[in-house]
Amino acid sequence: MPLFKTPVEILAQGHDLVLRGDFVQARERFSEASTKFTKQRDMMGANLASVYAAVMAVGQGISNPQAYRTASQSLLTLGPYMFKVGLREVPAQQLALELDLLAAELEVTSMAPSDPQQFGEKAKALQELAMRFRAQLAGQVLVIPELFTKTVVVGEAKAAPLMAQAEEAIGESLILQDPKAAAEHYQSARLWWIQAGRLDQADAASTHMKEYGRAAKCWFCGREVSGEGIHFVAMPSELTDLVKQRGQGSALPTFDAATNSVYACKGCYGAVFQLADAIAVKRTGELEAKVQKQIDEIKSQISQIKGRIG
Ligand SMILES: [Zn+2]
Repeated sequence: MPLFKTPVEILAQGHDLVLRGDFVQARERFSEASTKFTKQRDMMGANLASVYAAVMAVGQGISNPQAYRTASQSLLTLGPYMFKVGLREVPAQQLALELDLLAAELEVTSMAPSDPQQFGEKAKALQELAMRFRAQLAGQVLVIPELFTKTVVVGEAKAAPLMAQAEEAIGESLILQDPKAAAEHYQSARLWWIQAGRLDQADAASTHMKEYGRAAKCWFCGREVSGEGIHFVAMPSELTDLVKQRGQGSALPTFDAATNSVYACKGCYGAVFQLADAIAVKRTGELEAKVQKQIDEIKSQISQIKGRIG
């Protein structure tokens, strides 16, 4: 029995470790095999082993899109080759495509838009990606989730959550101009989340849909506005029964009897808030002056006492 293992044997050890789910050790073996192949001037073998190592690296960087991209690009160098992953064999090109789409998913879903235009761009990117999953990986059980997280995900199942997030992004892009339209997009998002089996997200979308779709009449100025939390807010108040009775008969509510709050459009709310803030600042300043005066008096008394003792 030879003392030193051949690179082919080390490569085989790597595959065994993959079967046992030890991806960290497997990656090390693959890298080792690549080095040995290189020493023997077997560049094909060296490249193959390094591609296996790159795919294993995804397991250690499961939320890092760069790990996916590196693995994807290295797989493309293999040409028409059946790539071994655990008990499965997949065409290298297909795995490269899967890694590319999964990287895009991580990148696009982590976009953090801050204005309506950026929300629109995110929505477009999400829709395009959903279409790619449907068109390019439909009917295929994805390799990466099966290998590293033991979950069975078919390609087209990736589309519904992406479409849901796209609808939510469109909703956010519209909320400032047209809350009712925003609410409609949250309704679509809710249906996509249900299709994706994500009932928690469906409920969250439903809450937004109701808030954005809700309309009220401002208690203070009488303006009619829709979009709760964005264009109008509920302000805690005190409502007597007489006041509540007077409010009935109006098509839109001016208050919420259940929480003893009145509805204020953002304009009125902002004015009240600014005024209250200015009063608070003024009061604090007055209080500080008063306290400072007392401190000064105490200081002078102390120095007088010190003078007498000394
Ligand atoms: Zn108002």
